[in-house]
Amino acid sequence: MNIGPETVVVFHYRLRDAAGTELENSRSSEPAAYLHGAGNIIPGLERAMAGHAAGDVFSATVSPADAYGMPDPNKVQRVPVKHLVGARGKLRPGMVVQLNTREGRIPVTVTKAGRHTADIDTNHPLAGQELTFDVEILEVRAASPEEIAHRHVHGPGGHQH
Ligand code: ZN
Repeated sequence: MNIGPETVVVFHYRLRDAAGTELENSRSSEPAAYLHGAGNIIPGLERAMAGHAAGDVFSATVSPADAYGMPDPNKVQRVPVKHLVGARGKLRPGMVVQLNTREGRIPVTVTKAGRHTADIDTNHPLAGQELTFDVEILEVRAASPEEIAHRHVHGPGGHQH
């Protein structure tokens, strides 16, 4: 089966930045899974996946516009330190932590740390970066009607609910 609309794709990947530094590697945990055509993964990677089948190994380089976008300089704001979670030890500029928002937690980068407030950059930490994915497709299967309705994968690598 080839990857197309309404297929579920299970894959391993290694993510590298433009300098070749490894940023993520799914082999350190479980393979990733997504529902093709549902916007579950960044647009550039989803496009590169189309047409591939189980067993395929390939690399895809994705421009910032097709990944996490360009950084917006207006996305720096001052927040109370108590709204930030996940800091190991003292907050320092450059540290990536989680910000509690009404929509859930998002990763943010600390630009300035004070005692009670911190300046944070809410751009995605990978905004502005060209990314290369080394992909190995493990499985391609038809999505279930429920997965299509929910617009995400159920079971291993997907939602458990
Ligand atoms: Zn669901």
